[in-house]
Amino acid sequence: MTERLSPVEIMGALVAFPTVSRDTNLPLVDWVETYLAGHGITAHRWVDPEQPHKAALFAHVGPWEEGAVVLSGHTDVVPVDGQPWDSDPFTVVERDGKYFGRGTCDMKGFDALAIWALVEGRYRDLKRPLQLALSFDEEVGCTGAPPMIVEMQNHLPKGSAVIVGEPSMMQAVTGHKGGFGYDTRVVGFEVHSSIMHTGVNAIMAAAPLIDWANHRNAENRAATPSALAAMFDPPWTTCHVGMISGGTAHNITAKDCRFAMDFRIVPGEAKERWRDAYFEAVREVEAQMQAVHPEARIDLSEQFHVPPLVPEPEGEAEMLVRALTGDNAGHVVSYGTEAGQFQEAGYSAVICGPGDIAQAHQPNEFITVAQFEAGHGFMARLLDRLSE
Ligand SMILES: [Zn+2]
Repeated sequence: MTERLSPVEIMGALVAFPTVSRDTNLPLVDWVETYLAGHGITAHRWVDPEQPHKAALFAHVGPWEEGAVVLSGHTDVVPVDGQPWDSDPFTVVERDGKYFGRGTCDMKGFDALAIWALVEGRYRDLKRPLQLALSFDEEVGCTGAPPMIVEMQNHLPKGSAVIVGEPSMMQAVTGHKGGFGYDTRVVGFEVHSSIMHTGVNAIMAAAPLIDWANHRNAENRAATPSALAAMFDPPWTTCHVGMISGGTAHNITAKDCRFAMDFRIVPGEAKERWRDAYFEAVREVEAQMQAVHPEARIDLSEQFHVPPLVPEPEGEAEMLVRALTGDNAGHVVSYGTEAGQFQEAGYSAVICGPGDIAQAHQPNEFITVAQFEAGHGFMARLLDRLSE
């Protein structure tokens, strides 16, 4: 039997794998799988066929039946490129009551606590099962979790309450906005700018679509928010263009322009409504382009889709976390997480994890020892509850 590691030791092992989203996470997955196997826990992995260097891992302890509490975290971290770190980002360093290291806060600290809880659960007489779910590609649009959730249901009895341990200072976060985005590629027709009326300038065609977003934002801001929307900051759906490129010279009508149009939708509003409205705007501009040159066009490809997390006041996950933390206040966040994806797949889901989101993605990312220990206490109470 493998030695039982403390949560801090497990965190140290996980942080040492530089699992930046673009790179492999297999060494980390191998380590967790081996560690769990050493304690008699069989883990299952899901390997992305399009990216065989990445895998999700999930496992189950306790009675082989439905209704598990699922502890969900992601294994990937954001890059450290260009960030001024005072110590090696991939080594956990304890200093001034804080554990420094990439992912300590977002979210290998929680992953370590979840792995610890699963192994402890293995040695306890659990009356209700506990599951671990570790995904990848969360930081690049939450694309790793949906296929993992499907695979989990193929291999394990379905869990019912999911705790997604994104840093929330151990508060119960019960809602977040949904998000989706389109890579928008405008293909114009190149001519010398002196005869621009015979060409199609892709940049100038993109401009009204970007301005379309400005208009939607102004309208949304001016409207009275629904009760659900009013919980969020800002309490409206936002349209955002964060990247643009195009053109080759000041005197050539641009043949190409490409930009990223993203939406963050308040729960209660349908994604389709925004998608359809954007598509309509795109088709209108495209028709004007094609009136000049029939081969001009606009291609759209969806880059990510993260469903909103809709608060479930009587939901099992929310009630469980409230009972374990004593936190009865309402908290929502404006960023997307895998909780919305679990909820969309029929689970009750809530966000609750140690650490402060303000430290996520930063140079010298840290989690305080106090928050980490609060997470440890939470897991211990969870195990007690599952043993009752
Ligand atoms: Zn995260």
